Amino acid sequence: MTQPSTSDTREYESARERVEELRTQIRYHDYRYYTLAEPEIGDSQYDAMMRELRAVEEQHPELITPDSPTQRVSGEPAEGFAVVEHREPMLSLSNVFDREELLAWQRRMTRLIEREDFTYVCEPKIDGLAISLVYRGGHFEYGATRGDGLRGEDITSNLRTIRSIPLVLQADPDSLPPAFEVRGEVYLSKEEFRRLNEQRAEAGEQLYMNPRNTAAGSLRQLDPRVTASRRLDVFIYQLGWVEGERPVASHSEAIAWLRSLGFTTNPLTETFNDVDRVATFCENWVERRDGLEYEIDGVVIKVDDLATQRALGVVGREPRWATAWKFPAEQAVTRLNAIQVSVGRTGVLTPFAVLEPVFVGGVTVSMATLHNLDHVRELDIRAGDDVIVQRAGDVIPQVVGPVLSRREGRDLPIFEMPETCPVCGTPVAHDEGEAAYYCPNRQCPTKLARLIEHFTSRYALDIEGFGEERSAMLVDRGFVTSLADLYDLPGKREQLLEVEGIGPKTVDAMFAELEKSKTQPLHRLLIALGIRHVGGETARALARHFGSMQALRDAAVEEIEAVDGIGPIVAEAVHDYLHDDEYAALIDALAERGLRMDEDIAARGGILEGETIVVTGSLDRWSRNEVEELIKSLGGKVTGSVSKKTSFVVAGEGGGSKRDKAETLGVELKDEAEFIALLEERGWSTDE
Ligand SMILES: [Zn+2]
Repeated sequence: MTQPSTSDTREYESARERVEELRTQIRYHDYRYYTLAEPEIGDSQYDAMMRELRAVEEQHPELITPDSPTQRVSGEPAEGFAVVEHREPMLSLSNVFDREELLAWQRRMTRLIEREDFTYVCEPKIDGLAISLVYRGGHFEYGATRGDGLRGEDITSNLRTIRSIPLVLQADPDSLPPAFEVRGEVYLSKEEFRRLNEQRAEAGEQLYMNPRNTAAGSLRQLDPRVTASRRLDVFIYQLGWVEGERPVASHSEAIAWLRSLGFTTNPLTETFNDVDRVATFCENWVERRDGLEYEIDGVVIKVDDLATQRALGVVGREPRWATAWKFPAEQAVTRLNAIQVSVGRTGVLTPFAVLEPVFVGGVTVSMATLHNLDHVRELDIRAGDDVIVQRAGDVIPQVVGPVLSRREGRDLPIFEMPETCPVCGTPVAHDEGEAAYYCPNRQCPTKLARLIEHFTSRYALDIEGFGEERSAMLVDRGFVTSLADLYDLPGKREQLLEVEGIGPKTVDAMFAELEKSKTQPLHRLLIALGIRHVGGETARALARHFGSMQALRDAAVEEIEAVDGIGPIVAEAVHDYLHDDEYAALIDALAERGLRMDEDIAARGGILEGETIVVTGSLDRWSRNEVEELIKSLGGKVTGSVSKKTSFVVAGEGGGSKRDKAETLGVELKDEAEFIALLEERGWSTDE
């Protein structure tokens, strides 16, 4: 056996030290960013640390540990989830709905242990999914869903992707119990919910119903990469079982202790000694709930002292020492008059409920989407049923289900998808294993009208004056039979003026808007075409990478797939679209009418946006002035001296003192070639 040489050992030792150092720093910055929301460094500095850590780990794979920040998204898609037996059952909570019921709950406790004075801890009840996390030796070991309270599913790989869940605790492992469990609620913020739905709307996909269901679906993805893309968040609300000695004597102490270890706990938690004040706190939240970044459906109230909790114990599956004040559900019952089907721009048929108008959650609701056939079947609602309609906050109204007792004795038809398109009569197509039914007729009038709406929408080419009604009119009256016809409308001015309700001012405004849209950059056009799976982010990535429609059309599927952020399904959809005869002709027709088919640097939207850059020494390719102009034109900021805020230093020949300063401060140095490589990586091309 050969001994490793001393220099190898030394190199290995320094790599090991560097890895430890980087991980500690990254964990610290994750905590500042995800838990405290008070970042200390910019994204590019953070990214640089991650890149370095990845590079060192690549050279020394034996140094990779499961709790390294690089390993948050790891592992292959799972076949299914293993079952986890909860060491202590995850109980459910009793409910109260008003002050009277809360006082009754308090009286029951008083009767039981002959005490009146309790300290209560109150916190908003997040409308998410309960989870259990187990830590051993200061490291995250595994995590599970609540399941039925006794057994949940092992979703460790998915939970690891949530940045506010620490993989390593901020404490000396020797000072911690050998192992313990914490419980929390995983949720999706309202903003993230909107972001995901906007993406889906742009890509012509079905919208998610509400943040809670979306969070649930995201946590149960078999591929952790999908979960990671959803930006879930968590609040830890309880210390569960503890091996060894329990480090705290009350619930509020437990929360403070957990916070000190790096867990995210809800800052709105409050403690009261008086049950009346608890009731007021709860009542106030009914009014204030809409102002929160996440959805809550009540307030959880717990007796603080753990000894008192034990004395009160559990009845059935509910602890006596806690209860949930549930907010009044914004629901109403109304008649489901019919289930109809609408046709979207991709031809997908979407069933929707036609309701007897009903006032719920502050608005009158007469229609609600039913998403797809599977959803209708799951709800088991039938035309003629009385149904429960719900509307919460800014979420679209939804049908919760039928009032079955009112169906008795009536024979109501089970909903079936129509066999032909309700608009054009073409037989409906359906792919085995997919929920969607669609009209395969490319000339289907409603499809085209919806496509015009999409093409002109503010996400796409942003052409004002082509709403739902006008788009339908243009198709119905034969003004438009293909998207390219839109640009021929100025030639049909006289005929347009014959349409009722359209005056000269309106048509001229339409024409001006159309003319203006011709200068929109390529990524807007890519969104506008309505290619399957292509939303804003995908379109921008493609436009940035290829720069022109021609380059994109010339690209092989593999080249499209090689673009950062583009997967095989999307690449194939894009390639198929561009190489379809009819769509290719459409693109040619649009080009002929003068639409822009490329993306310029300015429109590529600052690939150096947010970066503060120092240039030092002399470069081969550019003069100092030129390079500074270039950085600014790409959205970056140029400063004269190196500080902690500097993203990186571009160092040419010479440039001694700034180089030294950068090294002292740990600011990244890039030589000219590295700088050019960075620009190219972000889509800048050398001939610019
Ligand atoms: Zn049709």
